[in-house]
Amino acid sequence: MPVRSKDNFLVFGAPRIEQAEIDEVVDSMKSGWLGTGPKVARFEKDFSSYLGSGHAAACNSCTAALHLSLVALGLKPGDEVITTPLTFCASVNAIIHAGCTPVLADINPRTMNIDPDCIREKITSRTRAILPVHFAGRSCDMDPIMALAEEFDLKVVEDCAHAIETTYKGQHAGTFGDFGCFSFYVTKNVCTGEGGMVMARTEEDIQNVKVLGLHGMSADAWKRFSDDGYKHYEVIHAGFKYNMMDIQAAIGIHQLKRVEENFIRRCEIWDMYQEAFKPLTVGQPAPEEPNTRHARHLYTLMLDPVPCGIDRDEFIMRMTRQNIGTGVHYLAVPEHPYYREHYGWKLEDTPHAVALGRQTVSLPLSAKLTDNDVADVIEAVKLCLED
Ligand SMILES: *Cc1c(COP(=O)(O)O)cnc(C)c1O
Repeated sequence: MPVRSKDNFLVFGAPRIEQAEIDEVVDSMKSGWLGTGPKVARFEKDFSSYLGSGHAAACNSCTAALHLSLVALGLKPGDEVITTPLTFCASVNAIIHAGCTPVLADINPRTMNIDPDCIREKITSRTRAILPVHFAGRSCDMDPIMALAEEFDLKVVEDCAHAIETTYKGQHAGTFGDFGCFSFYVTKNVCTGEGGMVMARTEEDIQNVKVLGLHGMSADAWKRFSDDGYKHYEVIHAGFKYNMMDIQAAIGIHQLKRVEENFIRRCEIWDMYQEAFKPLTVGQPAPEEPNTRHARHLYTLMLDPVPCGIDRDEFIMRMTRQNIGTGVHYLAVPEHPYYREHYGWKLEDTPHAVALGRQTVSLPLSAKLTDNDVADVIEAVKLCLED
């Protein structure tokens, strides 16, 4: 008998949606204003006040946010952008779509974040930017990264898809670099279905991003069609269609109100997992670095077949048989054929990311989980390792 029945399958990364979001979406539907409008403006304002600094531009995904940021930096074909091999493909694809060449710098195996010493080794005369990813919600080591940026005159775009609550020395992730990019995808800590946010340090940069994100038009649509009369727009860039809708912002506004409450719940779940798995042979997440706050986005175990007796993929299969969903974050980027074929990346060039990418598995960590759900996950992990 599995820990949970089939019709009670525990979905990985299920969002916690409440009545306030539902009512706000209905309000947008009834008002007839579905597209980019006052709720997007309010969500941007709320988001920048939560982070405590910077200027915000909402868009329709973090992938779009990354793309817009890199385009706004004015990078040129042949420019190199250094990022981590342990990330979602979107971080790398955004670099490619901005016309640049992605370069991978290996991770620190303890933190799973990009290693500043590895970044330094990869800097060439063509390097223009660094794109660190705050993996799982753990802050990258921003002091040495920003010092490298200063020394070599590089731009910094932070991928904060996991890192809304993350801080480093009291400052929020996403406010160190020229740009910080956030995701509101369904599995993320704040969700809008699909959605993203660009944070910029300067007003000028965020205006540029807003123009690029809406066809390159110099005024945004809801101002154009407001009741102070029609105004002609001017196209000043070949822009994109990356704007967020009010229906999405309607969800985000209320999700953001509960960001800290949900964070506290995920901390409780995290602590239960850490305690329960201590006696087992699996590898557990390292404690966060002093003076940082880990956003607790992903709880990852390491399945090294030598002490564990089974490999990661077998573990996932057994968890699925227990009707518990898991995730893999991530197979290292060079594992994917496209990048090997087009960039000649070899697995041995980033050995830590490749090794950990083959061992890592993420357990459910949604704030929606009940104590019973958590107990089921713990029991299932123990059973799967004993089999
Ligand atoms: C989810 C994610 C993205 C992409 O976010 P979308 O909003 O789905 O485009 C980018 N980078 C990382 C690290 C992610 O986890």
